[in-house]
Amino acid sequence: MQNAAPVRTSALLTSLGWLDHAFLPAGIAPPEEIACGHQRHSPTVVMSEEAFPRKQCEADGVIATDPRPVAVYTADCLPVLIADTRQHHVAAVHAGLKGALAGVLPAAVNRLLALGATPESLFVAIGPAIAPCCYELGQDVLGTIISNPRVTAPQWFSTQPINLHAVRPQAEAKNQGIWFDLPALGRQMLLDMKIPAAQIEVLPVCTYCSAEPQSSYRRNAHFSDGYALRYSWIQRRT
Ligand SMILES: [Zn+2]
Repeated sequence: MQNAAPVRTSALLTSLGWLDHAFLPAGIAPPEEIACGHQRHSPTVVMSEEAFPRKQCEADGVIATDPRPVAVYTADCLPVLIADTRQHHVAAVHAGLKGALAGVLPAAVNRLLALGATPESLFVAIGPAIAPCCYELGQDVLGTIISNPRVTAPQWFSTQPINLHAVRPQAEAKNQGIWFDLPALGRQMLLDMKIPAAQIEVLPVCTYCSAEPQSSYRRNAHFSDGYALRYSWIQRRT
């Protein structure tokens, strides 16, 4: 057994006081009663009743208007937890590059707005995900990203950024591409939905080089040292 990996939380979400949430380490089981879709990198967002028992429907975002915890499972994709302080609704969203480009974040925000939220009442935390220090993409993929109308301010680096918080080697450059900032893309899409910048927290943890071992699907593809899904969940208190 390795030392217990930390359960990460968002100071911003914690400060709200009416909910519980966690970005669990790789391989740690979530609460039994979670609602969670069978994730397909789609823009589909459902209500918690449709995603309980877990994985009975295909969805990449789940919203709860009641105290049931909603969850997503990720490896290198963005786990995004959203709280609406107006209605006390919560959402969990799985947004990798593919799902983000397909519009899963605006889909989740729009559903919350339809349920009575306003952009000013939404608070968001983006959990551990692959960061630009380890996320190399080819120029062809960058072209696809930039041409997507939902991408209004893409951020990337032409040389690999150094991650001072790395606890193991960063990804090795392989395809002479660019180093893309996926968390920044998620943040930009939330800003474009008029959510105030001060209400969006991005946890500075890269699944490849600075999270607990076995967090990264991409690292496992390079080194075959195993990976396990990480669950992120959020729940309104009763
Ligand atoms: Zn990294």
